[in-house]
Amino acid sequence: MTSTSIGTDAATAELNKRALLSVLKVTQDVAKLTSYDLDYLETIRPEIKNDIQKLWDRLLDTSNALLKSADVKDSEGLPLKLANASDLTQKWSQIGEINDQLFEKADTNLDIFVGVRKPIPEASSGPSNRALKKKSYFSSLKSALNIPKPQLLFKTKPDNFATGPFKPLLTQKPNALISLEESLKLEYPEGNITPHYRQPYEAEILTSKYPKAIVKSIKVIQPLPLTTTKPLWINNVEQLNDMVSELEEQTEIAVDLEHHDMRSYVGFVSLMQISTRSKDYLIDTLKLREELEVLNKVFTNRKIVKVFHGATSDIVWLQRDFGLYIVSLFDTFHAASVLNLEGKSLSFLLDRYCSFKAAKEYQLADWRTRPLTKAMEDYARSDTHFLLNIYDQMRIELLEGQSKEKIESVLQSSRAIAASRYEREEYDEESGKGRTGWKSIMTKFSVQPKDRDLVIALNKWRDVTARRLDEGVQYLMSNYAIFMLARARPRDAHGVARALGKHQSEILMENADQIIQVITDVLQNNKPLPNRASFTREVPESTTLSLKNDDEDNKEVIADRERLASELFGGTIDRKNFKDVKETKNSTFWGGVF
Ligand code: AMP
Ligand code: MN
Ligand code: ZN
Repeated sequence: MTSTSIGTDAATAELNKRALLSVLKVTQDVAKLTSYDLDYLETIRPEIKNDIQKLWDRLLDTSNALLKSADVKDSEGLPLKLANASDLTQKWSQIGEINDQLFEKADTNLDIFVGVRKPIPEASSGPSNRALKKKSYFSSLKSALNIPKPQLLFKTKPDNFATGPFKPLLTQKPNALISLEESLKLEYPEGNITPHYRQPYEAEILTSKYPKAIVKSIKVIQPLPLTTTKPLWINNVEQLNDMVSELEEQTEIAVDLEHHDMRSYVGFVSLMQISTRSKDYLIDTLKLREELEVLNKVFTNRKIVKVFHGATSDIVWLQRDFGLYIVSLFDTFHAASVLNLEGKSLSFLLDRYCSFKAAKEYQLADWRTRPLTKAMEDYARSDTHFLLNIYDQMRIELLEGQSKEKIESVLQSSRAIAASRYEREEYDEESGKGRTGWKSIMTKFSVQPKDRDLVIALNKWRDVTARRLDEGVQYLMSNYAIFMLARARPRDAHGVARALGKHQSEILMENADQIIQVITDVLQNNKPLPNRASFTREVPESTTLSLKNDDEDNKEVIADRERLASELFGGTIDRKNFKDVKETKNSTFWGGVF
């Protein structure tokens, strides 16, 4: 595109989604119009002329709203505006080309907010927060290029091709009710052919009693000021042992982890934060990865409450990387749920209980950085520094009215989280489900049936290659890049570069030969396929694929689109209309744009 450009400042995720929807909806409406013989209709039923004019006006308004919200400029740098219906037809190609850029932005944002990983119980929202997240996501992406991979120095290197059940790393079992040997047995769940190892502390977690002090004569202890105290770094075994001795004296500690997975296939914990009432420890888990099992003395001691915020990921990361388990977990995220607070994120709790404004934009920083910058260190520390004070205040609120029901509900949820079990994620080529699967690409980009096999093949190549190089799949090749390559079907490195556009990266260009090979193989095995279709071409029954499919992901995507569409165009969407469109066989529903 030469004469149009997209502004970036106002481009938040919400805007992108809306703009994208406008394109899809306009396309659909245009296809609808052209699919009938309008002149003929006007002749035999003059009264509909008016209606058609109204429709054109609406289309024009919608298109102009889209151009405005996407901040599209004409060749003179002025906002691009369509004056009349013929303008709409003439400049349609220009508008169509904006698709790619909108998709790209939407993809990035969707990845940040929903796509790449399981949702983390940090329900932050609002444009400023999003903008910050996006910014730090990109800056961490940049710095991620330059740091030598710490996993190369791990005593046990990651084995991304290991198969079979994950065997717990546990070598000793302090605070055991059931012996280590008994705990490390394979289980054969009914109706499931693949056995797995037990969660070795499951019995202890589910049956141990929390210390009585958790509900008795609670005093709110004020946190020490951050400014006059310093964090203590734990960089070697001696420091680690000293810290463990101190922790054994505590009745409650706060724990948090920072994780890195951009330049690693499965990811690894890059920092552990532990706070007592008087100290903040920052543990270098890259250096001490193989030594941390001693912490089980504290972590599995039922008498020491471990306070986490949103521990779901932490629990499995601790098992996967260090063989650590948590008995007597108190999760402040669940406390916020039970208390029905209007926010449940840690930043919300920090603000509400401690009037502390968290710099959450560091959440996605590159935690492999050493030494940490002062800002990262402050951020990491603030994730646990206030947590015991928040725990005090929340317990008082939970016990208001003298009933123990609320706090018991928090403990019940916390136990269930602590008892969860890490398992390796298998690549499911059939269903395409999972973090690294092809399924989400299909729905997110409304991939056409003709491109489906290519997406699946490219996705598989990405998975194998990311395992081999020990890279994050998204770092190696974004979902958007897969979609673009499948659409463009390049035959040489130049074509790969062109298809990738701004998504071009060193690592992908180094592997351009393989990418071309994957594409060639798929195309040779398939019948010749039509080229990129026009808007009014004969269309396969792709339209209703996503509608008829009962799959949950699809439902969610469709519901989201419908919600946004009704917001944009007023009223609700009548599914019957879509059916009409489909039956004319001249367009597809959402998938028809490409
Ligand atoms: P936190 O518990 O907020 O300190 O987050 C722990 C780790 O989870 C971070 O170091 C990130 O690796 C990861 N993480 C947290 N929030 C997000 C997010 N929105 N997207 C991706 N990763 C996240
Ligand atoms: Mn956390
Ligand atoms: Zn954290």
